Amino acid sequence: MTGSARPSGRRDIDAALDKAFAGERVTFEEGLLLLEDAPFLELGQAADAVRARKHPGGEASYIVDRNINYTNICVANCSFCAFYRKPGSPEGYVLSREELHDKIRETVELGGTGILLQGGHNPALPFGFYEDMLRGFKESFPQVHIHAFSPPEITFFSKLYKMPLREVLVRLKTAGLDSIPGGGAEILSEGVRSDMARGKATVQEWLAVMRAAHGLGLRTTATMMFGSIESLKDILIHLDHLRTLQDETGGFTAFIPWTFQPGQSTPLQAATATGVDYLRVLAVSRMYLDNFENVQASWVTQGLKMGQVALHFGANDMGSIMIEENVVASAGCRNRTNEEELRRLITDAGFIPRKRRTLYEDASQG
Ligand code: SF4
Repeated sequence: MTGSARPSGRRDIDAALDKAFAGERVTFEEGLLLLEDAPFLELGQAADAVRARKHPGGEASYIVDRNINYTNICVANCSFCAFYRKPGSPEGYVLSREELHDKIRETVELGGTGILLQGGHNPALPFGFYEDMLRGFKESFPQVHIHAFSPPEITFFSKLYKMPLREVLVRLKTAGLDSIPGGGAEILSEGVRSDMARGKATVQEWLAVMRAAHGLGLRTTATMMFGSIESLKDILIHLDHLRTLQDETGGFTAFIPWTFQPGQSTPLQAATATGVDYLRVLAVSRMYLDNFENVQASWVTQGLKMGQVALHFGANDMGSIMIEENVVASAGCRNRTNEEELRRLITDAGFIPRKRRTLYEDASQG
């Protein structure tokens, strides 16, 4: 965009869409304009063109893995979370080694290639608990990819055990950590974050974990939970943080936007995003994050049919069949599928299903 005036009209929308079509970088102001005012179907078309340029083979990938929450005890008190229990709660738990290994064994038997392991901020566990857990996984299941500990958990470890961030990451990696999920980002805009997630990592702390992880060769994903109390500008601020860090490190494998799920047991009672809101944000994300290869559809929060539509609004990946998903299920969201159905849904949407591993390597076996 040349000139200093804020883009605003139909001509500016067309110019921004043309840039995305041509593979040029969209500015912050243009991204905001697209999010606010671009016609819905034109947004989808442009995002689909960007997706097709990055993934010309017409494939849509997915993974078979399991989401394991090793503890629900947490002191962060996020207002949107229905999953956690405070220390001392009779409903609090920490999974035993046997329970964890049973879950991984079952995952492997179901064709799973990895686990996504996250937990609450549990102040009672020593750091050795995490190192032993990872070593145990690698001894018993060396072929299983361990995608674990979101940035807020790692920030929490660093503070609780009074260890520099880098040392926490080096020790976890040495014990068996393969990559890091981008959870706990919610909205990377400080005002929103201090309202809904005051007790956990700040924007700068979240980014610092990712920067340090990428520097150690640990790949990560990035997420965004939107549709609650943030503005469209907050969404753009979030995307801009991610794009800037990706320019610096290249360490993100994928972007995964999903919507806040209000439930009877979530303290935060905001209206959530509509399906149209979801698709608009997805499409703009695909265009704005020009340095991200993969954008994931969130059928778990949007439903399976919306997952199919998402493949035409910029997503190239259907995520996981989610053998287990406790956090979103706690808020009342219970979409379910299996591998056969997910492959059929991808095919019916006009794409070729491709089974992948956590870092998007091929894992196809039919
Ligand atoms: S979202 Fe995570 S950090 Fe926040 S309260 Fe729930 S378990 Fe704790």
